[in-house]
Amino acid sequence: MPSSPSRLFAEISTALPPTGGGVTMGRAVVLGGSMAGLMAARVLSEHAEEVVLIERDGSTADGGEPDAPRAGVPQGAQVHALLGAGALQLERWFPGFVAEAVAGGAVTPPPDGSREWFFTDGRRRVTAPVAQDWPVLVSTRPFLEALVRRRTLAADNVRLVAGRADGITFEGERVSGVRYLPQGRDGAEDEITVEADLVVDAMGRSSRLGDWLRDGGWQRPPVRRMPIRLTYATALFKHDPAVTEAWNAVSVDSADPAAGRPARIGGFILVEGERWMMLVAGYGEDRPSRDTDDYLRRCREDFPKVFGDIAERAEMISEVVTYHQADSRRRDFHALRRLPAGLVAAGDAVASFNPVYGQGMTSATLHASCLSSWLRAEGTSIGDPARGYFDLVRVVVDAAWQVSTFADLDLPHVDGPYPRGYRLTKWFAGVLFELAVTDRVIAARFARITAMLAHPHALARPGLLLRALWLYAVLRRRGPAAD
Ligand SMILES: Cc1cc2nc3c(=O)[nH]c(=O)nc-3n(C[C@H](O)[C@H](O)[C@H](O)COP(=O)(O)OP(=O)(O)OC[C@H]3O[C@@H](n4cnc5c(N)ncnc54)[C@H](O)[C@@H]3O)c2cc1C
Repeated sequence: MPSSPSRLFAEISTALPPTGGGVTMGRAVVLGGSMAGLMAARVLSEHAEEVVLIERDGSTADGGEPDAPRAGVPQGAQVHALLGAGALQLERWFPGFVAEAVAGGAVTPPPDGSREWFFTDGRRRVTAPVAQDWPVLVSTRPFLEALVRRRTLAADNVRLVAGRADGITFEGERVSGVRYLPQGRDGAEDEITVEADLVVDAMGRSSRLGDWLRDGGWQRPPVRRMPIRLTYATALFKHDPAVTEAWNAVSVDSADPAAGRPARIGGFILVEGERWMMLVAGYGEDRPSRDTDDYLRRCREDFPKVFGDIAERAEMISEVVTYHQADSRRRDFHALRRLPAGLVAAGDAVASFNPVYGQGMTSATLHASCLSSWLRAEGTSIGDPARGYFDLVRVVVDAAWQVSTFADLDLPHVDGPYPRGYRLTKWFAGVLFELAVTDRVIAARFARITAMLAHPHALARPGLLLRALWLYAVLRRRGPAAD
């Protein structure tokens, strides 16, 4: 298996399907049929005779509206964009996926970055980050998930069961199965136990796997949290190019207590069905509500003019939907001293981040590739604890966690924990950000990291450090540019 974080990213960041491997188990059971569970099931379809996906939200199993937000994924009505690495992974596991999504109405940015606006503090419009070889893929969340579900369930050996997982069973030093209550039943006597060679926890950030481990006499994974107290409010509008030529915009205001300005994020994206989805978000007590007047006022007053233009001149075609996320959270399975065999976890069940960085779904797809790498690695036995898998997932989690929590340490209501060397790293990140506006090499490197196509270590390569310091020195010598 790869020996360094950068190497792992290089190895799995390919659209080419992996080779080798083969069927090594009878039945795998995946708990949760959302992005992480579906991706894990896709990978396992190559290694298990049968894959059973158990999803408590029956609307995915009984022919409910495939493209509508569903109760099991309450964040699904909010703005969701898939980063470049996520698009690459979907292409890896489902060849032709991006073209199919685009044919169905999903949007990829124009390669020259035009019509994509980016605003920073004080509503200053700056050049959008350079286009990627793997650009962001934009649609509503249910649209994307429905495509992934259809592709995953197309495998003959993957079966979706509507039911609520209630626990896992153990046999000696391993997990031996799952207890679940089929949909429509409510008595303990209705519970079914299904045996499994491998169980995947993909039940999202509220997963109760830790309780189940403790109840079975094992340890819970240690949990790390960073409080963010972020509230999203989102509504849909009819796309109207007469209002603005921009298809997408992001506005990021960092807090300036002296000027009375709180940290705020807003954005809009063009999604399938010729609609704009527009988001306004606030931190701490600055909480947008479901009240339409409050939402429209925020669009007009708290964000650049184009947000107000859409709010006032485009037709609003949905109610305002809100979502509150209290913290970024990770469960460090890799740190467990005792871990039963036959168990892995993926997606938000392992780590979920401040959603403004758009890392969650992409992380789930990368975890799937980690699962594949582990299962295909020489010496892997599903009879042993999946330490090799959790070590790989840790690299992906660390990368996303570093980017999101480092930026969130700047929020006034976040007070640590500060990593070693925080001040120096913060200064250097500020320098790189300033240089990225004019230097294409630095901008491209930055963009690959925020798209999760490369590990953040890529910013610390000597060549890039020297280039940055040299450019910075030139910039300082020149002094501030005249207006
Ligand atoms: C406001 C907001 C905006 C976001 N924006 C983005 C974005 O722009 N880009 C991005 O990539 N990510 C974004 N995310 C993150 C993204 O939503 C998650 O990372 C992603 O959904 C994780 O997928 P998952 O499968 O791990 O978990 P989830 O999507 O949470 O799914 C968990 C599944 O498990 C099922 N389940 C739970 N318990 C049980 C049980 N006992 N039995 C059976 N089934 C069960 C649920 O019904 C659900 O289907 C955002 C998140 C939020 C909150």
